Amino acid sequence: MSDETQQIPPEDAQTRLQKTIVEDHKRLELDDTIQFGCHPGVSCFNTCCGDVNIFLSPYDVLRMKKRLGLTSMEFLENYTLLPIQKDMKTPIVVLRMKDDEAKSCPFLEESGCGIYSDRPWPCRMYPLGLATSKDTPDGWRGERFYFLLKEDACQGFGEAKEWKVRDWLDDQGMDEYDVWGEAYKELTLNEYFEQGNTLTPEKMEMFYTASYDLDKFREFVFESSLLDRFDIDEDFAEAMRVDDEALMRFGFLWLQFSLFGEPTVKVRSEVAEAYKGKLDKRKLTKSEPAESPEKEQS
Ligand code: SF4
Ligand code: SF4
Repeated sequence: MSDETQQIPPEDAQTRLQKTIVEDHKRLELDDTIQFGCHPGVSCFNTCCGDVNIFLSPYDVLRMKKRLGLTSMEFLENYTLLPIQKDMKTPIVVLRMKDDEAKSCPFLEESGCGIYSDRPWPCRMYPLGLATSKDTPDGWRGERFYFLLKEDACQGFGEAKEWKVRDWLDDQGMDEYDVWGEAYKELTLNEYFEQGNTLTPEKMEMFYTASYDLDKFREFVFESSLLDRFDIDEDFAEAMRVDDEALMRFGFLWLQFSLFGEPTVKVRSEVAEAYKGKLDKRKLTKSEPAESPEKEQS
């Protein structure tokens, strides 16, 4: 993990910010309509791709590193920052802007976004924001609703094009991002944190590796004894060798198991038996003094 830092609001300030957004912005449902257009003809074209904090999810990183033909390590090293904040529960990864005056995005080209079909979640969503509340009693990962983010300089709101919220989301290809986003929330909003627990630096490192640094995680999976110790379907294991999405799915399950103690990965029965055997042997060894010959003779 890089040790570079960047100022971002602490978590309680983020919570306040979200609360303010929810109170001040009109809630938009999927069938509500927005008026917006963004294309090379708008006078502000490309001006919003700089001097901005873009938080990246593991799926964003997966898509971008693949697009650029880089390993996860190369991508994270060259294009991201890891801001450190007090009471941080899980790693935060931010897209690193260039060092020029405009602090422009490294992927910005004259014709627009140079990685458009693999651009990250926040770039797809704008001008919509997404708010989620806490889990509901029926198990749904929080209520979701949308709201409009109106940047003063953005001329897109002056365009005539109208969209239903659901059509905007479809057009921006949000589906896959949402599926992975929900899966990632199983980790970031885990009950483990709700109970006030925090991760040790070693566990934080594992969290980062298994979610963001997939190529390093692949080394861990295939170059350690993990596959001997856990009951993992052979076809799935083979898929993980070459398929980043399969590996990320396993990474999330692995973290639920190894960090939060959830039964998402199964120890091989022979390993469990061998371990039990070891325990039994220890038990026998321990009980020896009580059954010592002297005691028996007395
Ligand atoms: S990734 Fe693309 S859309 Fe997002 S800020 Fe960079 S250039 Fe703009
Ligand atoms: S400021 Fe708005 S309209 Fe202009 S390029 Fe950015 S998103 Fe598009």
